[in-house]
Amino acid sequence: EAKRDPGTSYRYYDRELHITAGHQLRLEADLRNALRGNELEVYYQPRIDLATEEVRGVECLLRWNHPQRGLVGPDEFIPVAERSGLIVPIGYWVIEQACKRLKEADGLGYPGLVFAVNLSFRQFHDRKMTETIFRIIFNANIDTSLLELELTESAMMHDPEYAQRCLRELNQLGISFALDDFGTGFSSLSNLQHLPISLVKIDKSFVQELGHSADAEHIIRAIISLAHSLQISVVAEGVETEGQLEFLRQQHCDEIQGYYYARPMPWERLVEFLNNQGKAACL
Ligand code: C2E
Ligand code: MG
Ligand code: MG
Ligand code: MG
Repeated sequence: EAKRDPGTSYRYYDRELHITAGHQLRLEADLRNALRGNELEVYYQPRIDLATEEVRGVECLLRWNHPQRGLVGPDEFIPVAERSGLIVPIGYWVIEQACKRLKEADGLGYPGLVFAVNLSFRQFHDRKMTETIFRIIFNANIDTSLLELELTESAMMHDPEYAQRCLRELNQLGISFALDDFGTGFSSLSNLQHLPISLVKIDKSFVQELGHSADAEHIIRAIISLAHSLQISVVAEGVETEGQLEFLRQQHCDEIQGYYYARPMPWERLVEFLNNQGKAACL
């Protein structure tokens, strides 16, 4: 009797793994349909310039309006999209959307708004990346200086020579680059000094430790001062409280992004938001 117990729990685990694998396959099939069936939507989260208190740009964040499960966030399906390779066509679709909205923003009287798009590891290593992005921005006929691509340290450091070549090629077309989730990887800004990076985004895990950990304060101070000495601007992500905002302002952080100011929102809501407050009333 006692000996059967471990066996039972083993089978239980086995079944769990099985269900998980099945769940992944289902998600993958659903995601394939989602891209074809208009279930994917891009949300936009404003980024505020602390000096001018104006919306400097927006980050494009993918959402999935799943017919049964409702709104699904990217943390749930980006890993599936990444493993299956679906992230490649999905990623190009997001860039197309960003270009389309960029033109609309211009028409609505917001001509200088920067649109930031996330690029995942697999997208960045797609052989046709530079030529596909070139084709998208050429067809969209946008001001390329308003398009920014966000990459993580690990995506850039996997093959530094490749990264350097791609970033330079795209940078020559006017596209700028931001280093996303900065501080969570193992590289340092000095490893990245040969890359055309104009912005670092401090990971929200550090911002959210402000007030709870002296280390977080030191790390944020150090990132800002090093970035500025390299002529790189700094955005703090995940700003939720006035205390965090005040600290970042004192440290001369350039921009903030976070729920304190605004959440990611559908395009129509962003337009209302911009119309109602060109300036950041709450700051
Ligand atoms: P990320 O690029 O670091 O994006 C910032 C994330 O922080 C977003 O989560 C945003 O909603 C969230 N955030 C912003 N302000 C706050 C705040 O004050 N508090 C908290 N708790 N969170 C805040 P989201 O939209 O769930 O996206 C998660 C990640 O999924 C993104 O992290 C990005 O890595 C990835 N992702 C989103 N859209 C795309 C896409 O189109 N392509 C690719 N490759 N990845 C994407
Ligand atoms: Mg990002
Ligand atoms: Mg980030
Ligand atoms: Mg993140």
